Amino acid sequence: MESGKRKAASLAREALESLRSSIAAGDIPESSRAQLLAAAERVLQFRWQAERSTSIRRVVNATGVVIHTNLGRAPLSESARRAIIDEASGYCTLEYDLDTGARGARGRRAETLLAELTGAEDALVVNNCAAAAFFVLTAFAAGGEVVISRGELVEIGGDFRIPDVLAQSGATLREVGTTNRTKLADYENAINENTRMVLRVHPSNYRIIGFTATPSLGKLSELARKRNVLLYEDIGSGALIDLTSCGISDEPSVSDSFAAGVDVATFSGDKLLGGPQAGVIVGRSEVIGRLRKHPLCRALRVDKLTYAALQATLESYTRGSINDIPVLRMLSLTRDELSGRVDRFVRGLQKTVGRNNGLVIETVEGTSAVGGGAAPAVEPPSWLISLSHRCLPAMRIEQLLRNSNPPVIARIADGCVLLDLRTVAPDEEPDLVAALLPLAAQPEP
Ligand SMILES: *Cc1c(COP(=O)(O)O)cnc(C)c1O
Repeated sequence: MESGKRKAASLAREALESLRSSIAAGDIPESSRAQLLAAAERVLQFRWQAERSTSIRRVVNATGVVIHTNLGRAPLSESARRAIIDEASGYCTLEYDLDTGARGARGRRAETLLAELTGAEDALVVNNCAAAAFFVLTAFAAGGEVVISRGELVEIGGDFRIPDVLAQSGATLREVGTTNRTKLADYENAINENTRMVLRVHPSNYRIIGFTATPSLGKLSELARKRNVLLYEDIGSGALIDLTSCGISDEPSVSDSFAAGVDVATFSGDKLLGGPQAGVIVGRSEVIGRLRKHPLCRALRVDKLTYAALQATLESYTRGSINDIPVLRMLSLTRDELSGRVDRFVRGLQKTVGRNNGLVIETVEGTSAVGGGAAPAVEPPSWLISLSHRCLPAMRIEQLLRNSNPPVIARIADGCVLLDLRTVAPDEEPDLVAALLPLAAQPEP
């Protein structure tokens, strides 16, 4: 038997088995043959769905969290999707030079674009920013000391903790200053003959406000140069351009770091950059050159699909068409733009579902979130759709949406389900309507 049929047969056996034990336990009242068969079919469907729910599936993100780590962070641009399918999924020039017909540098175009866009001399792409940080620390600080401010010993989501990464890399942590204030002299006094590097970490998902102080990157760079140690900045979110027009003014841009004199910097490909999962290392050519020759380079490298998507995303920046990048387009939507779209959507929806049902659709002011540990203080003003039902609790509505096909992911606040169209692409609106229809079909109490 082929494996699909085998699977179906085994699910059917399990469904029958569970039905039999329910009958034996007296849980099922006397039923006709047809009723029992229908019940078996329901159990089978349920088990099949349960198995499928662990596979990767497209979802509609109606949470308003733009860089949603659980939902795959940055959605890729059209050109990045096309590059994966059309250019990279078969044979491609990953490590091949068409001019010479000989072996070429792997992923060269993406890395050249990264250097151009950030003002760095060279760039290298690895699996993610955690790998990038681990790589830089291992290659340049193992066996030595790394000086870092106590205000930057942060945890960035789940299991990326700066002190742990440092320990794993074989470097010794030399913490200076206090949580809220660190002075240049604190760094200066800590540097000794074992010091390899001064590390600056962008706190990402966390802000220290009020009575605070930290030396500028420019001052740290002067100090690092004078004392002959490297200055490394883990920037995290990787804003390639000024994002003030998207309402984000407190995220450092990568080129500012290079202008200030850092030797090497790392950031993610799938946060504010808006590309595929990747860790970007940019820096002076001598630093990147040493990383390229390090044995870890091969272990941390990315595949052709990542290079293709990243390259296409970066080309959008080079062309200046940043509206092609979904993360930046979504972040730049104003409340006015969203309210126009929401009103149109709700009018259409009300026509489709009719009014004689228990579903209550309203629109309310609210906020979205940047997500991905970037700009935690920024709450983009949004215009939300609030759903409630005369006989279904919000949790049940949220669950029904989550179980539709494609699943729609929403949030719950104050007993209502909230949908934020900021993160829903216009061509996904029919999916949203399809997910809402069964709610309107629920009977009135
Ligand atoms: C997000 C982040 C990381 C981890 O990046 P991944 O790409 O998720 O591995 C590391 N450092 C900083 C400062 C970050 O913001």
